[in-house]
Amino acid sequence: MPDTIFMKIVRREIPAAIVFEDELCLAIRDVNPQAPTHVLIVPKEPIARLADAGAEYQSLLGHLLLTANRIAAQLGVSDGYRLVINNGASAGQTVFHLHVHLLAGRSFSWPPG
Ligand code: AMP
Repeated sequence: MPDTIFMKIVRREIPAAIVFEDELCLAIRDVNPQAPTHVLIVPKEPIARLADAGAEYQSLLGHLLLTANRIAAQLGVSDGYRLVINNGASAGQTVFHLHVHLLAGRSFSWPPG
């Protein structure tokens, strides 16, 4: 998989506003926030898209969701947040290193755009 901006952040080659880190993932503030709270939960192991993740990633994928939950609590937004994974360019994915968007701090409409 080609290197991405998120791998450079994981390796600390470029700066980011890190809100959480453990052995499996890093959570950073999105540089172009779409809500008052917009955090990206990024696995340290690069997987291009959710569609590329097989059964061997079951535990890591669960960890990303539980980490989102934990960060929401840490940031005081547990009462209402939206998690988004864009899979593929047609779904809006621009960085091909799997990540979970955690959005909160405003109302969200449905269906999403
Ligand atoms: P996606 O479109 O789902 O692939 O999401 C990629 C997200 O990464 C976008 O919301 C971008 O604003 C965000 N992004 C791109 N570069 C950076 C960066 N250097 N630091 C933090 N967020 C970034």
